[in-house]
Amino acid sequence: MLDLSLPDHAALPHAACPACRAEVLVYTDLDEDDKLVVRCLDCDAPLGEPGLQTCWTPDQAVEAGYPVEGWLPPDAGAGCSSGGCSGGSCSKH
Ligand SMILES: [Zn+2]
Repeated sequence: MLDLSLPDHAALPHAACPACRAEVLVYTDLDEDDKLVVRCLDCDAPLGEPGLQTCWTPDQAVEAGYPVEGWLPPDAGAGCSSGGCSGGSCSKH
């Protein structure tokens, strides 16, 4: 798993992806020069340096129409039993 350095409250960095033409969740990765970049979770396009993105809570990401697979169960509200808490990504602590 990538360490997204999530703060106490779950925060999912997002950015505008030109390829996807949407606000997309991003993850941190290394580019070919071993520089930290964030990439589109959907198409892996590099979307700039980490730390410049604003963040959604998981709920906001769902509201934005993003399929937050792996972050929230299909039925929101059951989050704490799905293992999400161990990564600090659960908003229902
Ligand atoms: Zn994309």
